[in-house]
Amino acid sequence: MNYTAPRGTKDVLPPASQAWQKVEMKFRELCKRFSYGEIRTPTFEQTELFARGVGDATDVVQKEMYNFEDKGGRAMTLRPEGTAGVVRAYLEHGLSSLPSPQKFFYIISAFRYEKMQKGRYREFEQMGCECFGSGEPSADAEIISLLWIFFSELGMADISLQLNSIGCPNCRPAYLDQLRGYLRPHLDELCEDCQKRFETNPMRILDCKQESCQAVTKEAPSPLDTLCPDCQAHWDELLRLLDYYEIPYRINKRIVRGLDYYTRTVFEFISENVGSQGTICGGGRYDGLVDELGGQPTPAVGFALGVERLLLELEAQDLLPQLDHQPDIFIASFPSYQDQASAFAYRLRAAGIHAESDILGRSFKAQMKHANRTQARYLMVFGEEEAARMIGKVKRMSDGEELEMSFDELVQFLLQQV
Ligand code: ATP
Ligand code: MG
Repeated sequence: MNYTAPRGTKDVLPPASQAWQKVEMKFRELCKRFSYGEIRTPTFEQTELFARGVGDATDVVQKEMYNFEDKGGRAMTLRPEGTAGVVRAYLEHGLSSLPSPQKFFYIISAFRYEKMQKGRYREFEQMGCECFGSGEPSADAEIISLLWIFFSELGMADISLQLNSIGCPNCRPAYLDQLRGYLRPHLDELCEDCQKRFETNPMRILDCKQESCQAVTKEAPSPLDTLCPDCQAHWDELLRLLDYYEIPYRINKRIVRGLDYYTRTVFEFISENVGSQGTICGGGRYDGLVDELGGQPTPAVGFALGVERLLLELEAQDLLPQLDHQPDIFIASFPSYQDQASAFAYRLRAAGIHAESDILGRSFKAQMKHANRTQARYLMVFGEEEAARMIGKVKRMSDGEELEMSFDELVQFLLQQV
């Protein structure tokens, strides 16, 4: 039997996996600059957590979750996103009683049963941040600024920050009435999903990707026109801060996010290159979620960024991080010095150097061929002379220049080159 990876999943092989590592490392390092601490939560949780936390009326819960019953008969789900689990942990560990704000980041696999497309998988990676305890627009601005720095430091162009406010439980009902009033005469022009959403989640119709639905909603009312005074003040202040930081943005009434718990600010970072899967990152405020999951009402703001889409975008812009798989040095040896050569490689590695030596019992000639293939920066041949005097000739492969030095000097020399 030939096994293949399940549909919608993929293998990431070396050295390409380095691009993943580098993006993740940059994200970790940036989160540290903003005092976000890493949180690791389980890959599966009770189904009920997602039904409540993501929202029964969402596509994620209705169609996309990997649900299973465990051997104890409990309803479980592979996490389709990161926020619900983080909020569950925040409450379970009493973190809400610690001084605010509490800031967390995560890097996780998420699972959604979706139609496989470019940039859309069934297992995918999300990097995200959640900030609990501040309802201030400065918290929204801070989290947006983290992303802005992230994309800037990756060198990304053609990515636009698009923003909207979807109000709060005070002003949203009036908006939804207005929106339904606008949509009602066009119901039969909407796709089947949106016809259902009309009752359960009408705001989602605004971000439906079907052309026919987009045509209907082109002139639809914007939630920005019916914000209550508090939401309006929050929105104005956020825009003022972004202007003040000189972070460019576009206001887009179609940004509503698919998940129910968002309040006020919603945003996406959208690329002009990845097509319909152009949303690389989505986020916003979810002041209602902690309360919904059993805690005290707690303002919160966060985002999740899709790593596959980010890498597609980096590739499209020719910005994939440089791979550095070449060894600093290859230690080749004549057969009778193989042990000394491999022991020397071991010492170099212990000293922090990327060193390679033969582990296949190859002939000297075959080792040299392999050394070339590895594109090692330096080459050393371990023979009688080296073993006797503990002094070696190191050849720089780029220009063939040879340098003679003691082994201790070699360690220092290579460390300086790294
Ligand atoms: P979309 O509208 O594209 O389905 P979404 O609203 O479902 O996105 P979120 O739940 O906000 O997405 O997830 C945040 C990010 O995770 C997205 O912006 C995207 O980059 C990424 N993402 C979501 N679903 C997938 C998937 N199936 N495969 C790969 N990346 C995904
Ligand atoms: Mg989706």
